Amino acid sequence: MRTSAKILHVDLSSGESDIQEISGREMWLGGCGLAACLFERFGDPAQPPSAPAQPLIFAIGPLTGYFPLQSKVVAGFVSPYTGQYAESHAGGRLGLALRFSGFEALVVTGRASTPSCLIVGSRQLQIKDVHYLWGHDVFSTGKLLRQIHSQHSGHRSILRIGPAGEQGVAYAAINVDTYRHFGRLGAGAVMGGKHLKGIIVAGDASLDLPKERRKSYNETYTQVHHAITGQDVMRKYHDLGTPENLEPLNALQALPWRNLQATNDPAVSSISGETFARDLLLRQTACAGCPVGCIHVGLLRERFGSDHEFFYRQVSYDYEPIFALGSMLGMERASEILTLLEDAERYGLDVISCGVALAWATEALEKGVVTEKETLAPLAFNTLEPYRTALGHLALRSNEFYHALGRGAARAAAEYGGTDFACVLGQEMAGYATGENYFVSQAYGFRHSHLDSGGYAYDQNEGERDVDTAVTALVDDERQRIMVSCMVGCLFARKVYTAEQLQTCLDVLGYSALAAGLEDRAAAVQAKRWALKCATGFDPDTVVIPRRFQEITTWKGAMDPAYMNELGRAYARTIQRMAANAPRWNEE
Ligand code: SF4
Repeated sequence: MRTSAKILHVDLSSGESDIQEISGREMWLGGCGLAACLFERFGDPAQPPSAPAQPLIFAIGPLTGYFPLQSKVVAGFVSPYTGQYAESHAGGRLGLALRFSGFEALVVTGRASTPSCLIVGSRQLQIKDVHYLWGHDVFSTGKLLRQIHSQHSGHRSILRIGPAGEQGVAYAAINVDTYRHFGRLGAGAVMGGKHLKGIIVAGDASLDLPKERRKSYNETYTQVHHAITGQDVMRKYHDLGTPENLEPLNALQALPWRNLQATNDPAVSSISGETFARDLLLRQTACAGCPVGCIHVGLLRERFGSDHEFFYRQVSYDYEPIFALGSMLGMERASEILTLLEDAERYGLDVISCGVALAWATEALEKGVVTEKETLAPLAFNTLEPYRTALGHLALRSNEFYHALGRGAARAAAEYGGTDFACVLGQEMAGYATGENYFVSQAYGFRHSHLDSGGYAYDQNEGERDVDTAVTALVDDERQRIMVSCMVGCLFARKVYTAEQLQTCLDVLGYSALAAGLEDRAAAVQAKRWALKCATGFDPDTVVIPRRFQEITTWKGAMDPAYMNELGRAYARTIQRMAANAPRWNEE
């Protein structure tokens, strides 16, 4: 078993790089544990996110490249949105490209003197001046980067930012291989701050497996593959994909509409997964190493001439983007949502945050909290062109209002008013208005994401409002997800990759010692992540859940603010306890 990980560190300020062996895999496992370990080494909790020395880390895990759906990458960085240590996860080809480049992590520090592209492979490293790409959108940047580095096609991963990342929008995304993203908490702004327009990782080496392990590896691989492809639960991700959730959540009164002023609307049928599939779906595609293929690509036709002249473009869609730039903005036509998704993509904005921020701005304009002098467009729910205009202003930070909105809806509301209806739970909410447990889980959660723990599922499955049971469920579920994210597996496969299955996979690759103590090590990684988040400024006692989240009604009835407060306080105490008991790693 490799007890260390080979990582590549590149300092953009000096242009120097070094390869390091990071020991201690028995403590940090890989993935989000490795990213946390590397942040402890390279990061400085006292420095702001914009400090050039702060690292941008991309980490994979011990199973990456060996088993299906172990296809994600963890990015670790200090978030320009929260100022705290953050993670974002993305798929695409990056995981496999990193594995085949021979590195388990890439750490980028410093700031290039001119806009640059970093090219990494097993036998190559280049910091290339690409100043001519600065100002280009995500699409043209991708096209030009593919021309700049035409080798290793199919084994190469291309990351890039758009104007939003260059401008430092606090929720700028990094685009990965066109259809995947490090979306939330501003990884794109971190790249922009480093003058890093693109990163190309070439998976140009091969992987070997010791002869004596091949038989057991083949057997385990086949068994895992069958478990994944034979499951009905995975089939749904390929068929309609996550947009399948629109109709059921709307029926449960849990789908946010018009800045969460409503939780259901009959118009859902025109933007549902079924409607997208029937009218717009062109094809499904997949991250490298995934037999499921949940990425849904729609066909967007845009008429530009009177003689039936059309542009056509391929735009990916998912549940969360349809919620954020769809129901949250009151949009009632699927093709118009696709148009907005394409715009957000082009500018390199996190689609959830920009949609929810614009929903707040729309209500703020309706209520007279701001005027068109600020919004520069007549924002109104279910109108396409004003939102297209606003997305451009948001990405380019056209005036003081959009500058503030680019730091988040809560920040803009603090300046202009309207904090009660800013739908922010740590960052702009994801699309699950399921109830108190979810609102607390996202507001206090490590990534401020619906993926931190199953709060949304807990709301749907548990009728009881019991604080102790709920906190235990959130913490336990987070630990199970961390175990998968240390490998780094797709969370859609977490029912297949149980602790037992992960132990078997680790075992056949020779990581027997890791397999034996997996649950305890995942708990240690969980505590360490919280310790880093708290060390960089997170104080769970200061978390506020805006009034809008107390005002809604779901299928369970009205919210219970007293329960929500009590749950938040109990969760905060548990987080503080975990952080205080985090293990020491790099000092040992
Ligand atoms: S299920 Fe979807 S997100 Fe997960 S690895 Fe496969 S294609 Fe990527």
